Amino acid sequence: MKYKRILLKLSGEALMGEKQHGIDSNRLEQYADEIKSAHDKGLEIAIVIGGGNIFRGVDGEKSGIDRVQGDYMGMLATVINAMALQSALEKHGMYTRLMSGLKMEQVCEPFIRRRAIRHLEKGRIVIFGAGIGNPYFTTDSTASLRAIEIESDVVLKGTRVDGVYTADPEKDPAATKYNEVSFQEAYEKGLNIMDMTAFTLCMENNLPIIVFDMNKSGNLLNIVNGKEVGTLIS
Ligand code: UDP
Repeated sequence: MKYKRILLKLSGEALMGEKQHGIDSNRLEQYADEIKSAHDKGLEIAIVIGGGNIFRGVDGEKSGIDRVQGDYMGMLATVINAMALQSALEKHGMYTRLMSGLKMEQVCEPFIRRRAIRHLEKGRIVIFGAGIGNPYFTTDSTASLRAIEIESDVVLKGTRVDGVYTADPEKDPAATKYNEVSFQEAYEKGLNIMDMTAFTLCMENNLPIIVFDMNKSGNLLNIVNGKEVGTLIS
């Protein structure tokens, strides 16, 4: 195995699957399968999940909801997704702990770094809900920060595209994919990988990122086994 401990970032939108909003149970099942196959190899797995399928702070602004209020709503949305994911993982026989950036004692543990690491060492899958717990951040930033805190070997950003392209492949047919790119080059070319806060956190702490297609079966396991999948930013 190439990695011992990983942080997997899943977007909320990915959970929609074929639906227009909400959570697609087939997609959830599929993710649980993928995660289980990697976990069965002995990999320590932490997960950050987004909330974009339910609510984003910036969207709230358009409908007159104050930005900070909207951001807290977005954080709560991530907890809903995290709880759904937790159920799916447990149904597949994995032990999990949900840790939250906001206090919600009835459903999650508070995020305590040493405790998170202990859970991972014991083979539990740790899901980080409610982002960092502060407005004006994203779950990508949460992924970078938590990955550094728990000393993850890498951030795996699971998306709908199979890596980082020179331009948006859905708009520009001439766009080509990078197999590998340095932080410096990605920064200079303004490649769309994560938001700047999330990106610089990884860059400054030498934490590699792999952007890959989470919907392609076997990809996660292949990455863990050291195969070239998606785009490596390091
Ligand atoms: N959010 C926040 N602070 C955080 C993480 C998330 O305020 O630390 C809010 C923010 O409004 C964001 C929303 O939660 O738009 C949902 O997260 P995100 O947009 O990152 O989800 P994704 O795009 O991954 O589905």
